[in-house]
This record gives sequence, C-alpha cells and structure tokens, in this order.
Amino acid sequence: MKNFKTTELRPKVVLGVAAHPDDLDFGASGSMAKWVAEGADVYYLILTDGSKGTDDRQLSPAELINTRREEQKNAGKVLGLAEVLFLDYEDGSLECNYDVKRDIARVIRQVKPDVLVTFDPSVIYSASRGFINHPDHRAAGQAALDAAYPLARDHLSLPELMAEGLEPHKTSTILLMNFDDANYYVDITGTFDKKCQTLAEHKSQQMDGEAQKFVKELALEAGKAMGVDYAEGFVRIELK
Ligand SMILES: [Zn+2]
Repeated sequence: MKNFKTTELRPKVVLGVAAHPDDLDFGASGSMAKWVAEGADVYYLILTDGSKGTDDRQLSPAELINTRREEQKNAGKVLGLAEVLFLDYEDGSLECNYDVKRDIARVIRQVKPDVLVTFDPSVIYSASRGFINHPDHRAAGQAALDAAYPLARDHLSLPELMAEGLEPHKTSTILLMNFDDANYYVDITGTFDKKCQTLAEHKSQQMDGEAQKFVKELALEAGKAMGVDYAEGFVRIELK
C-alpha cells in the first residue's frame, strides 16, 4: 500500500459520510477538528436515523431518533462543523442501493469536497480487536465510494441530479476509517481533548468508560506509528 507519510493534506472542504450518529466522531473527529481550525468547511452526512442504537427498553424508536440527532448536532457544534445532514434511512438495514448512492452523490455535488471520509467497506471483522464491523458501516462505505466514483463525477450518471442543476464533481482524496490498517496519519495531539468532548455529546451511546478507553488506545497506537502523542489513521486513496 502506498505510504503518504510526508504529504500532509490541507483540505478546503471535507465531507464525512457514515451510517450512524457518533461514527465519524469515533473514527475521525480529531482530524475534523484540526481541519476546521485550519479553515476547512467540514460537513457530516449521516445516512441512517440511528433508531436501533440503545439497550434502553423504555425508549421508543421515535424518541431515540430525536435524541441521537440532537446529540450529533451538539457534537457538530463542539467541532465547529459547517453542517450536519441526515438522510434517515432505517438503522440496521442500510443497503448500498441506487437511492442511497444517489442521495450521497447529490450531497457530494452540492458541497464539492476535496476530501471524503468514510468507512473502509472491506472491513468485515477484526479478529485481533474482537469485533464484527456493523453491516451498516460496510454499506455506508461502499455506497460513499460508489457515489464519489463514478456517480458524482460523471455527467452521464444520475441525470436526475443534472436536472436539479447539480454539476459533476471530482473528489480528489478519499480517507477510509479502517482501524486495523493505515497508510496516512493525522496528528490529533492538539485536538484529542476536543475529540473526547465530541464523543461525550453522544450521551445515549455511553461513550464513557470502555469506548473512551478504546478511542484512547487507537489514538495512542496511531500516534506511535506517526511519532506523535495522538493520531488518527486512515487508508488514503488519491484519485487520478
Ligand atoms: Zn455505527
């Protein structure tokens, strides 16, 4: 895998695409905060309504949807995001289908990111870390990649978007959240505290305790690979 150790990204517009409220904050909010501080416009696009993410049996799906949306908006305020957008597909059954891809491509053509951050759809499980990647994460990553290339880029793709006045857009850099593999690191030593604050906004997701421990472990590990205190690692693809 090509290594991008020495070529630091200075994005102008960043679009994060993920399945659930909290996904991007977990995987990339240290980097997002850094890019905001450097003057970038950072947008989040959350594909599902988050209606399944609770152990609380008293909570209705409608209440949970509202709560998680508010939590993500508040986390966005902590980060200084330009906007948090929601598509409201049903949590737990996200598919990489035409509608989802078109809806992501629409946002790509609207906000015109030079850097797109999403999940690495090739991660099905991690035996070493002991988790199965949520199927919504895989579908979100695959749909975002398909939307970036070729759907948002080619003028003959998705004629309905052209009819809406949305010209094609070429995203030059893709950063994939993978957690086991990386060829590019962002130094988040200066924004790690902000990442923790951002995660704390997702109160319904119990982001304290074990989850915070895992976040710190990942940041220390990536930091070690980069030679700094804290970092976030990504699989970086430069589209030719
Ligand atoms: Zn998730």
